Amino acid sequence: SLGITWVTDWIRQSARVISEHRVELITLDREIGDGDHGENLDRGFTAVLGKLDDLPPDSVPGDALKLVATTLISTVGGASGPLLGTAYLKAAGAVGKEPELNGAAIVALLTAARDGVVLRGKAEVGDKTMIDAWTPAVDAAAAALADGKNEVEILQAAADAAEKGAESTEPIVARKGRASYLGERAIGHRDPGSQSSALLIRAAADTAA
Ligand code: ADP
Ligand code: MG
Ligand code: MG
Repeated sequence: SLGITWVTDWIRQSARVISEHRVELITLDREIGDGDHGENLDRGFTAVLGKLDDLPPDSVPGDALKLVATTLISTVGGASGPLLGTAYLKAAGAVGKEPELNGAAIVALLTAARDGVVLRGKAEVGDKTMIDAWTPAVDAAAAALADGKNEVEILQAAADAAEKGAESTEPIVARKGRASYLGERAIGHRDPGSQSSALLIRAAADTAA
């Protein structure tokens, strides 16, 4: 099972990959948005890192997820702050005070995160948003759980599906967010939020393995 060490490793790895991919995310957002996505998330996760060391030693996974939520909501400007903030907040609620997360809890965490984004942003699969990464990830995780896979395999299936989902945003028009103002001109460009969400889900798998 996966406990507080995994969650804090996941958060640190998230901050690292977002910072490494900052320019790539800015470039994607410059093509079909306002060019700040990499900067927004890097600011948010850098702020999270600064607070992570203050987590009490007896913290459970839900406490760390809640810290990410409140920090992203207060430091990330733009659409992605409240959307991802709500995702981590709902994920925290789904795992509650559980100190160790089994496969079912991991699926519940991912499902609640996705549902949080939908609650806030009302996007569906195919709208060219981060939901195009999250929903395939949740579906793949649930299928892996049903197949009797362990936590690591569940997260790897989710990450593979999220990456494919991010790729699937390239040939379509956007129906939510800034890119929706571009109509056909958004075709051929990957949605930045789907790319960053795939990075976050890959970080979850890499730190579990
Ligand atoms: P902003 O567009 O306000 O500058 P960001 O650049 O940080 O915010 O984030 C943009 C990303 O947010 C998009 O690439 C998309 O994935 C996501 N997004 C925007 N609107 C929605 C929505 N209604 N539902 C889900 N995701 C959304
Ligand atoms: Mg933007
Ligand atoms: Mg913006």
